[in-house]
Amino acid sequence: MAAFARPVVLWFRQDLRLADNPALAAAVATGAPVVPVYIWGPAEEGAWPPGQASQWFLHHALESLGADLSARGSRLVIRKGDAQCVLNELVNECGARKVFFNRRYEPSALLQEQAVIDGLVKIGVESITSNSALIFEPNDVATREGRPFKVFTPFYRACLMLPEPLPTVRAPKAIPFPDTPLRSDSVAGLDLLPRIKWDTGLQKTWMPGEAGALRLLKTFINDGLVNYRVDRDRPDRDGVSKLSPYLHFGCIGPRQIWRAVRSHVDATGSGALVESADIYLKELIWREFAYHLLFHFPHSVHKPLRPEFERFPKSAAAAEFVKSWQEGLTGYPIVDAGMRELWHTGWMHNRVRMIVASFLVKDLLAPWTDGARWFWDTLVDADLASNTLGWQWSAGCGSDAAPYFRIFNPILQGQKFDPDGVYVRKWIPELAAVPDRWIHSPFAAPPLVLQSAGVTLGQNYPAPLVDHALARNHALDAFAMIKGKK
Ligand SMILES: Cc1cc2nc3c(=O)[nH]c(=O)nc-3n(C[C@H](O)[C@H](O)[C@H](O)COP(=O)(O)OP(=O)(O)OC[C@H]3O[C@@H](n4cnc5c(N)ncnc54)[C@H](O)[C@@H]3O)c2cc1C
Repeated sequence: MAAFARPVVLWFRQDLRLADNPALAAAVATGAPVVPVYIWGPAEEGAWPPGQASQWFLHHALESLGADLSARGSRLVIRKGDAQCVLNELVNECGARKVFFNRRYEPSALLQEQAVIDGLVKIGVESITSNSALIFEPNDVATREGRPFKVFTPFYRACLMLPEPLPTVRAPKAIPFPDTPLRSDSVAGLDLLPRIKWDTGLQKTWMPGEAGALRLLKTFINDGLVNYRVDRDRPDRDGVSKLSPYLHFGCIGPRQIWRAVRSHVDATGSGALVESADIYLKELIWREFAYHLLFHFPHSVHKPLRPEFERFPKSAAAAEFVKSWQEGLTGYPIVDAGMRELWHTGWMHNRVRMIVASFLVKDLLAPWTDGARWFWDTLVDADLASNTLGWQWSAGCGSDAAPYFRIFNPILQGQKFDPDGVYVRKWIPELAAVPDRWIHSPFAAPPLVLQSAGVTLGQNYPAPLVDHALARNHALDAFAMIKGKK
């Protein structure tokens, strides 16, 4: 190592890990002391500063990153404020002439990044950027005409034609830190944890940080992957990887997951495993597609990609309905179970996300943006790209969305994907004694059945907010109206 080399700065963003982190690897490869910095600047996230649940996850992921850096002879410098100002100040303090960081793709992050690069150029500092968050960056994939894709299947096919991700890079063994004394805030000083204690469920569910991500990946690959094809749609089973918050904060990268799954299949691949692995890797490509859309159509975070949906009518009771939906008090058990799982753990199963989203938009005629906002505040994996895609898809207004007329029936969905009511009973204990036959439609059960299960609709469990069959017709009328067919 060049003993008197000027330090370089490594700016951690949504890449809170040491392994397979290209910006970190490039910074360490200079041989110079590295100043790792995390900058907390929610004001720079535009309309989407991290929500409460994300802040909780971030707090613990930063603690974990700090400990991992210390174990390698380094430390995490934490600062608050505008990234451009903080980085200018920091390079002046430590004499760095290079700043390394990984790219982000959200509209406000792109603006921030450009401002940082321009600001650093003015003081003679070079920015070296890398990709850590995606397998394929938004401009890597394009139609034959060079345009962005709007539909998933051709996007997916185009991705499969590109070279497979390169082998991943191990965490550096040592990360030299300069002798210069550098001021740092503490993680606690960022005030990310809730003041009123509502995070017990989150604590029981998650182990934020790189070690937690790698542990979860290993368990999933060894125990869950082979059954993913079937179990991924079953909220009553432990059938998915739950890696989404780790991917969002970059505690693990998609290439690491891709390579680990591929290696496992190459080593042990049976027919069922190969099939499940392909389906799982396809889900990772959905995430890539979400970033592709966000990057090329940034307005999609608040506007439907199908403009006619801007005329979609809203129920007069929408505000009241949204509140009941948020509280898990709609009277439809699968919807309420999902909303309570979300509140308790900061996460919800994908199948149930689709059901609750369809219910909010199509049964309750409430704006999809209200749902997206609530998810933003309550999900530990809240991610502008995936959340926008998920909501636009569910509402039928996305570029490659579920057809609007395909309206999820919450009773049938419950019966199909939670056939024994295990998921519903877990999250709605007041329905625990309702027999299987009525568990997804307690409102249809004979009074004596409800009585012996200890359920009084309207008292200890709500009567349905709307009648699904009628609500479905209203939604279809509204759809016909915006299409100009009525
Ligand atoms: C209305 C709605 C809102 C959503 N909001 C978010 C969000 O804010 N953040 C988020 O990460 N995902 C979101 N999703 C996508 C999906 O529900 C989650 O990624 C998934 O449930 C996370 O659980 P998992 O890690 O166990 O997934 P797994 O089934 O184990 O899949 C592995 C990974 O693939 C990716 N993935 C899987 N499904 C999708 C998908 N449909 N779209 C994009 N990526 C996917 C995720 O990164 C996930 O971690 C949303 C979906 C819907 C329908």
